[in-house]
Amino acid sequence: MTTRPTDVPASAREVLPPLENFAAELITAYPTEQWWPAETSFEVMAGAVLVQNTRWSNVERALAQLRVANCLSAEAISSCPPERLQVLIQSAGCQSVKALRLGNLAQWLVDFGGHRQIAKTHTDELRTQLLGINGIGPETADAILNFACGRPVFVADRYAQRLFARLGYLNGVGKTGRYEAVRAMLEAAMQGRAQALQDLHAATVLHCQQVCGGVPRCSLCPFQRCCQRNRAG
Ligand code: SF4
Repeated sequence: MTTRPTDVPASAREVLPPLENFAAELITAYPTEQWWPAETSFEVMAGAVLVQNTRWSNVERALAQLRVANCLSAEAISSCPPERLQVLIQSAGCQSVKALRLGNLAQWLVDFGGHRQIAKTHTDELRTQLLGINGIGPETADAILNFACGRPVFVADRYAQRLFARLGYLNGVGKTGRYEAVRAMLEAAMQGRAQALQDLHAATVLHCQQVCGGVPRCSLCPFQRCCQRNRAG
């Protein structure tokens, strides 16, 4: 477990058991096989950087280019000239910025001691390390922790923040505190289950893309009864 009860917003602390039930229902409603397809954990790490501000289909093309060039490992990327890296990842967009970020992440992994050292490192320490890399923010760090490292961490992206705000779990939490509030709440509710947190992230994205979008289609939603926004009309 990485979440301390004090990290959970006071308004949500007493609702952790119902929140766990809701999460289980959401996961059941949107079952997924393998949300983040990858052959290696470094591929997940690279994908987490490349997916910033673009679609996954563009990331897949960039990863394929890196694979064909035999440049899909921390060692290969950290020694790859930035200009060449930019060409390889061009399809993911913002290639100069992303090449820099990818290079920073790869160099960190090499210096840190690779995946063997990651396995020995506590999640909180690992998160601090990742957030210290230039270009790695909370969402990218948490995607790496959960999907690449199998840690019980929730990716509280904009979909999750919107959904849990509408449901009524973020009352009194300001916009800047929403990421950490959602992360802490869901990690506490899911009690350290890394796979369930992956499934919940996938289900949240799918629910927000299909039903609870910018203009929510509440009449189609199976969660109307437990939604504050819907009750408020
Ligand atoms: S009832 Fe409406 S606002 Fe609430 S979760 Fe469902 S779609 Fe979103």
